[in-house]
Amino acid sequence: MSKEPNYIRKVAAEHERQGLKPGLHHVSIKHDDWCDHLKGGVCNCDPDVSIVAHKAVMARLDWLRRKGWTQN
Ligand SMILES: [Zn+2]
Repeated sequence: MSKEPNYIRKVAAEHERQGLKPGLHHVSIKHDDWCDHLKGGVCNCDPDVSIVAHKAVMARLDWLRRKGWTQN
């Protein structure tokens, strides 16, 4: 049986902390330099985790497009 990656609990805790509703969310996981995840293994570090609702990401992209900072 494989070991559960360290980030799973942090993602679940952050999801609960924000009280997110069902839907599409963007999850960012920043591993430490030495994490086994970066060498093809299972995450064993204490990663920084953030979750942003898809709507908020799209609003940010629209803002960047209006500024001309992205293509499309
Ligand atoms: Zn990690």
